[in-house]
Amino acid sequence: MIEKMSDDKLLKSVLLEVKKELFPKLKVSKKILELLNELQDLTGEDQTKLLEVSLENKLKQVKKCELKAILRPSPIQSVRSRYISQVIKRKIRKRANYTCEHVSMHRGRCAESRNLEFDHHIIPYSKGGKNTLENLRLVCRNHNTRQFVLDFGTESLEKITQKN
Ligand SMILES: [Zn+2]
Repeated sequence: MIEKMSDDKLLKSVLLEVKKELFPKLKVSKKILELLNELQDLTGEDQTKLLEVSLENKLKQVKKCELKAILRPSPIQSVRSRYISQVIKRKIRKRANYTCEHVSMHRGRCAESRNLEFDHHIIPYSKGGKNTLENLRLVCRNHNTRQFVLDFGTESLEKITQKN
């Protein structure tokens, strides 16, 4: 059985399906749709006046930060980058207690605290891994290299070291 949904219900169910970044845009679109519906019944001069007043009112309902998100999307959202924010780095260092987070089956946790690097641990960056707290870990150079070999094989490592 197909249930007939009201516009509002439909919008809400669509919202559940889309990415969070699109929320502000959809909110603004909804406001514009509401405005257009109000305008449908009017003609000529009335329309122009109402358009002015309504548009101002509708836009007031949209939060400033939401408008900013639409006009100036953050580069992290649109272009993929290796850049890891300072906040994330700080959280990872703290979580790691400022030492390498590698855990070996036999030797346990590595205690190295020098030459620490951020490693895309669960999913490598080149395979779409994100700069998130969950996907990153703090590792010493030794373990970062080891992980690289595990992910890509020794051939890739040789190619990189030959370039340098
Ligand atoms: Zn280590």
